[in-house]
Amino acid sequence: MPEAGRTDRRGFLADALRTSGGFALVGAGGFLVGRRGQEELQVWQLDPDKCTACGNCATYCVLDVSAVKCVNCFDMCGFCDICTGYFETNYWSLDTAAENQLCPTGAVIRRFVEEQSGQRFYEYTIDGPLCIGCGKCVKGCALMNGSMYLQVEHDRCVNCNECAIATACPAEAFYRIPANQVEIVKQSAIGVLERRGRQQLREADEDPQLREEGESLLARAAVQRQWRARQAGWDARQQGEEAPRGS
Ligand code: SF4
Ligand code: SF4
Ligand code: SF4
Repeated sequence: MPEAGRTDRRGFLADALRTSGGFALVGAGGFLVGRRGQEELQVWQLDPDKCTACGNCATYCVLDVSAVKCVNCFDMCGFCDICTGYFETNYWSLDTAAENQLCPTGAVIRRFVEEQSGQRFYEYTIDGPLCIGCGKCVKGCALMNGSMYLQVEHDRCVNCNECAIATACPAEAFYRIPANQVEIVKQSAIGVLERRGRQQLREADEDPQLREEGESLLARAAVQRQWRARQAGWDARQQGEEAPRGS
């Protein structure tokens, strides 16, 4: 992967899983661990590994514009020239003309980064306010790296007691999770956190701050794994039940 989208080392540590979207996924503010008053609060999140990008997230949310938005995880993105999350299958040309774009609102922003060995790399960011959560880009990106996925944006979601999308979701992808714990990322992204954490620890030597940051990354990955284990328990227990999982 080119250096596109990479920040310096301090930058990536502050935003451990680099994403583009309406919110920081697991950045400094993304993990809510330890925030006072959050321990009892339950928030809605969707499992991007279960989501089939059916389109209901765009239409069932009680808000005029859905609280569910697309996220592009740069750590999983191939920075592809021919991005299947950006271009229509039958695009006319590889440029940013509206007729070539999959996204109905133009919310995916394509930016040239560099050329390496004759191969051109582009960065794809999401303009959160423009995104309606339709999932078209998610379906397209699934043909390649699957770095684009949907997630409930905490800042927009009004945290309905019964989420209208959760009720309509054919994939049963919605969960209530404690707000102080985690935002759900793709399972494959957990490995990214762990690799980063181990790398930091290897490079730390006598640098206590690097060590602390490496340990923090591993702790974040552990929280994700713990959530996945709980999710498996909920799924097993609540098969066939209608109660929101995680409540
Ligand atoms: S309703 Fe469920 S399957 Fe459909 S886009 Fe939303 S999370 Fe994905
Ligand atoms: S295709 Fe749909 S989900 Fe993807 S960025 Fe555009 S509006 Fe959002
Ligand atoms: S809880 Fe309410 S506001 Fe949040 S995503 Fe579901 S329907 Fe939309």
